[in-house]
Amino acid sequence: MTTHQDIRNLNQRARALSREHSAEALACAQQAAMYAITLKDELGFTEAIFIQGSVIALQGNFDEGLSLMRHSLYMANLHQAKFLIPDCLQEIARASYTIGDYDNALDAWAKCLDAALEINAQDIYIKGQIGLGQLYFAHDDFYNALNHHLKARDYAYQCQDKAVLAAIEINIGADQFELGQLDNAKNTLKQALVYAQEVHNLEYQAAAMGTLGSVALAEGDFPLARSLLERARGINQSHDNRWGEAHNLYNLGLLARKEVRIDAAIDYFSQALSAAENIGAAHLIFQLEFALSDALEQRGDYVTALKLHQQGYQHHYQLLRQASPQRLHIMEAKLDAEKTRLENATLRELNDQERKARQQSEHIASQDPLTGLFNRRGFELRSASLLVSNPEHREPLALLMLDIDYFKAINDRWGHLVGDYALRQVAALLKSGCRQDDLVCRWGGEEFIILLPSRNGMPARDVAERLRRMVENWSWDKIEHELKITISIGVTQFQNDHSLTQMVQRADQNLYRAKQAGRNLVVC
Ligand code: GH3
Ligand code: MG
Ligand code: MG
Repeated sequence: MTTHQDIRNLNQRARALSREHSAEALACAQQAAMYAITLKDELGFTEAIFIQGSVIALQGNFDEGLSLMRHSLYMANLHQAKFLIPDCLQEIARASYTIGDYDNALDAWAKCLDAALEINAQDIYIKGQIGLGQLYFAHDDFYNALNHHLKARDYAYQCQDKAVLAAIEINIGADQFELGQLDNAKNTLKQALVYAQEVHNLEYQAAAMGTLGSVALAEGDFPLARSLLERARGINQSHDNRWGEAHNLYNLGLLARKEVRIDAAIDYFSQALSAAENIGAAHLIFQLEFALSDALEQRGDYVTALKLHQQGYQHHYQLLRQASPQRLHIMEAKLDAEKTRLENATLRELNDQERKARQQSEHIASQDPLTGLFNRRGFELRSASLLVSNPEHREPLALLMLDIDYFKAINDRWGHLVGDYALRQVAALLKSGCRQDDLVCRWGGEEFIILLPSRNGMPARDVAERLRRMVENWSWDKIEHELKITISIGVTQFQNDHSLTQMVQRADQNLYRAKQAGRNLVVC
């Protein structure tokens, strides 16, 4: 018999695991969400999808992570879950910051500080200060960064949580390093490492080692720098912290450049750049474009170097433009100075802008803004590769087509805002009820599609039946009296189909039968 306490325990376990064992943390949070659905424990569910979102973001999938966390924040506000709100805002801010969305990061951190003070959540207040400091850091304003981080340290004087203490020291160490206070930085970072080791927090150990590596590099101790950076990279690699790994690769590149191993440097920078582009870490991307450009110039590859340099400026400019007018002036002056140089570039009119625009619009074009799920286009892009890749070992696939029952009547009776809420909640339930590598998509309107690589897990019919029940049993009446939401599902298996369309058609026919037979049903 599952109890509310079991859900709390699972969530707690998921949180504890989240920084080191992301896959296990995700599994725990998913289990918690499932139990919460069964017991109609809205708070348990809200917390579980928050943890899922933060872990997914940590793994580098920021869009999906942010959308789960935003929905969790929405539900936390709805259910007055005050204890969750600062947590949510804090992680939303962190993820927004990493993808270079400074406006939203600032907004979330400011709200986070207010929410934390309201419930006297000291830890979160401290993390909010850390975050604001990071924003200054991102704008190269290291004095103000250090100021905020020192404020965090002041607040933390009676804090028992060694992980929080480690985070503060890591940030102070980085500020000191940038301000050229190398000895201070070293001491601070060593203290950070001690805290992180005491609580076995690998993420922070790697972060402290990484910056200690940068200090060693600045001091010219190359062997020490290499060993620290390699160790940090090993840790980040082993627990899938892709941002951390990209950052380490960047520093290993800087090291190689100092040792005049230009080819190795180019290799490191290129790897780091594609990793950063993959996870959309805007803040890292422009730095890497500059670094790679410099290294290429050193090798005599002037044309590519100039192109990358220009790209780096554009990216940097875009980032700074959002958040800070004074910074903009400085950048504009720099851009003017750079203009002469760029005008000499042979490949001035090359398609770097185009490439960027394409990447960005592809990203946006793949996702449904209301639910954070893939939209039809995103789904088609990803499912195509599932169908064609590796034809001999092609896994048997199943496809589910899902449609909300009588949704028009729900809009008519309660209005579109309630309709939108229901859509987002159905999306969150489907996402929690599926595995991470299942493709869940909003096909259009109130229709969803799910592609299951059918591993050795549950048969598709059972998955569908479970999802149907999850939606039916959710406590919709707490949103609006008498509100009920059910879904009908058509299921089909892969039958040597040549295209997805064939599978979609069969699933659609089964969905139609489910509707005919009375709705709130699964038909295979
Ligand atoms: P059935 O059980 O046969 O599926 O009935 P239904 O009412 O769900 O089907 P129908 O296709 O007639 O209506 C779908 C409704 O979904 C119509 C539209 O107003 C609503 N809808 C589609 N997209 C959205 C959305 O983004 N937000 C909201 N609130 N409603 C939406
Ligand atoms: Mg429909
Ligand atoms: Mg419908």
